[in-house]
Amino acid sequence: MKLAELFGKGRTVFSCEVFPPKKTSPVDSIYKTLDGLRDIHPDFISVTFGAGGSQVNQSTREIAGLIQNQYHIPAMAHLTCVAAGREDVDRLLEELKAEGVENILALRGDVNPDIPPKTDFAHASDLVSYIRAHSDFGVSAACYPEGHLESPDLVSDIRHLKEKVDAGAQHLVSQLFFDNEDFFRFLERARIAGIDVPIEAGIMPVLSRSSIQRMVSMCGASLPSKLTRILARYGDHPAALREAGIAYAIDQISDLIAGGVEGIHLYTMNDPAVAQQIAGSLTSIRSV
Ligand code: FAD
Repeated sequence: MKLAELFGKGRTVFSCEVFPPKKTSPVDSIYKTLDGLRDIHPDFISVTFGAGGSQVNQSTREIAGLIQNQYHIPAMAHLTCVAAGREDVDRLLEELKAEGVENILALRGDVNPDIPPKTDFAHASDLVSYIRAHSDFGVSAACYPEGHLESPDLVSDIRHLKEKVDAGAQHLVSQLFFDNEDFFRFLERARIAGIDVPIEAGIMPVLSRSSIQRMVSMCGASLPSKLTRILARYGDHPAALREAGIAYAIDQISDLIAGGVEGIHLYTMNDPAVAQQIAGSLTSIRSV
């Protein structure tokens, strides 16, 4: 099933993202994550691809295949092209096809200082059009409600996003954000720019001060004063911060759904208990 088919049916699509466990994690940790996520009935689960095309690529394919074949949930495999040439992409597409995976999130990725970049695909839009022209995969792409870090402004970022959609991206998943107004403003601008594919809102619950500081420095998301107050008040109390962070995410999601967003993409950080708590608090809201 192509993911674009999930949208436009009068309800909010709910999807989850997992990452391949680190080599130091127990082998069965991904099963625990996926068992927990199956219980909340996500419409699809996406699997990230190692930064710069690093060694976890194999696991992306394996885990996406597992989700698709053993859990019977549509899987979306992330694929970055910063360190991949045409031959690498052809091979990865063949492998994903052999696993029965039908959907790809086509990304440029960030340069990994340990892996030399390749030049076949300069931007994600090049990868999107290549995959659309050479395969039957459903193709999704990333978008940035506050603009991509390298972009001089949101206008040029949205212009390049439109190129990605014109190249064949059928669905967009947003970078995490903490202020819904940023997302609603972005959505309006994207629609004005003629971007008419479904756009999912990416939500990451704040679970610890260190993880949020790391994410914010990596992606440049801004922290609204409400969240700054939460971090100041509960930052030294892990259990309280976790509770407040989950409550903040639930509040964000219910407001987004009330505002008519087409989909919520939950960055689960492989913590199914958090995803269950969030989904459990939204049961009636998700069915509206
Ligand atoms: P692009 O769409 O190519 O955009 C990158 C920058 O180039 C933007 O500033 C854009 O405005 C600009 N640009 C685009 N086209 C042009 C053009 N023609 N001329 C000039 N400038 C242009 N990274 C991983 O390593 N693995 C993952 O699994 C992963 N998953 C992600 C999932 C989501 C939902 C998101 C939002 C991000 C993810 N990332 C992942 C991070 C992503 O790889 C980085 O944000 C990367 O820097 C940009 O990738 P992109 O696909 O958005 O690139």
